[in-house]
Amino acid sequence: MRAILFFFAAFLFQTTFGQQPTRYLIKAGKFFDSEKKQFLRDQYIVVEGDKVVKVGKSADGFKANSQFIDLSSATVIPGLIDSHTHFLFMQKSGTPMETDLIENSDADRLLRGGSIAQSFLEAGITTVKDLGNSGPYLDVVLRNAIRKGWVKGARMLVSGPIISPPNGQFGKLAYLHKTLPAREYSIVRTVDEARSAVNEHIVNGVDLIKICATNDNGLVLSPEQMRAIVEVAHQNGLKVTAHATYDEIIRDAVQAGVDGIEHGYGISDSTLRLMAQKGTYLVPTDGSFEGYKGIVEFAKSNITDDDIRSFVATTKERLVRAVKAGVKIVYGSDLYLYTPRAIGLEAKNTLVSYVDAGLPVADVLQAGTYQAAVVMGKQKELGVIKEGALADIVAFSGDLEKDFKEVIYNRVQFVMKDGVVYKHVTR
Ligand SMILES: [Zn+2]
Repeated sequence: MRAILFFFAAFLFQTTFGQQPTRYLIKAGKFFDSEKKQFLRDQYIVVEGDKVVKVGKSADGFKANSQFIDLSSATVIPGLIDSHTHFLFMQKSGTPMETDLIENSDADRLLRGGSIAQSFLEAGITTVKDLGNSGPYLDVVLRNAIRKGWVKGARMLVSGPIISPPNGQFGKLAYLHKTLPAREYSIVRTVDEARSAVNEHIVNGVDLIKICATNDNGLVLSPEQMRAIVEVAHQNGLKVTAHATYDEIIRDAVQAGVDGIEHGYGISDSTLRLMAQKGTYLVPTDGSFEGYKGIVEFAKSNITDDDIRSFVATTKERLVRAVKAGVKIVYGSDLYLYTPRAIGLEAKNTLVSYVDAGLPVADVLQAGTYQAAVVMGKQKELGVIKEGALADIVAFSGDLEKDFKEVIYNRVQFVMKDGVVYKHVTR
C-alpha cells in the first residue's frame, strides 16, 4: 500500500511540476489600453500560466513553443468587472423580495448562483463585486467554489451580509417574516455592534464591506456607526461601499469615509463635488431604455414606456452631472431580475446606458475595467492587460469602439480568465 502511495505521489509531483507552463501568444487587431484609455492597433499579448508576461508590438522570441490565438480582426479588452451584482438572489417580477428567499433553499440559491456566475463569464465579465442579499455567507461559499474550479464562473469578490439598520434593507420583511432579516442582513443598532459586524465578516472571509446606509423604512445607520464600520474595515484592508439613495444620506456616508456610493439617485451637485474631492467613487447602477423594456415585457409588467423613459432620463441626468463634477465612475449592473436573454449579457445594459448618456466608449470601458480595479486597489492584477496582471482577456469580433451596442452584446469571441480559455469562437 505504501509503495502504491509513493508511486502516486511521485507521479503527481512529476505531472504538476514537470510540465512546461502553457504559453499563449495572442494577436490583438485592436487593443484597449484601459489604463491610458486608448485603443491601439496590432498588439501581441503573451500569457504564461495565469499571468500576462508581455504586451507590445513585437512577438519576437515568443513564436516558438506558444499556442497562437489569432484575434487580429477583433477588439481585445481586459476582462470586464461588474462592481455590483447579487448572484445569490433573483426577484420575480410582481413578487416581493422575500418570495425568492422563501421559495429557494440555500442549496437552490447556490446552484442558481453558479449558473449566473457562468453566464457572466461567458459574456466576458470575468470579475464581479457581489454585494449581499446572499443569505448566511453563501457568497463566500460560491466564491470559493469558483476559485477551486468546481464551478466555472466569474471571479467573485464578496461582501457577506449587508450591514444594515434594524429590519434590513427591505423593511417590510421584518413584519411579515420575523426571522428573515437577521438571516439575510447583518443588523446593527449601536456603534459597538457596527464594529463587531465588520469583525465577524472578516472572520468569515469577505473581500469588502457593503452597508445599507438607509433602508426602505427610512431607518438609517448613524454617522457614528458608519464611521466605526469604515475604521475597522480600513484597519483590516477592506473597502466599504454604501447603498445610498438620497442626498442627505449619501453625504453622511461620504463624510463617514466610505470608499464608494451605490446608486446615488438623488445626489446634489454639492455632494458630487464632495465625492470628487474625497475620491469617493460612484456606481451608477443604471439601465438602458431598451434593456428595461425587454425585462419589463418579459415580466409582463404594466410599467409603461413613459415610466421607463422618465426613470432613464433621471439616471442619465445624474450620471452626466457626476462626470462633470469629476467623480470616478465605476460600472455596476445590480441586475437581479429574471431577464429575457442570458443574465450576463443583460448586465451589459448598464454599459450601454452610459454610452446612451453620451460617455465616450473608452470612458465606459475604463469604468468597467481599470477604474473598477483602482477603487479596489487591484489595478496591478485586474482590469488591465499588462505585464504581471492576471490573464483576464476578452475579445469581441468587430470594432467595439465604433459599433458598441451590436458588438458588446452579440460578438463575444474569446474569454480567458486566469490564463484559462473559457470561450473561443473561430470562424
Ligand atoms: Zn444592489
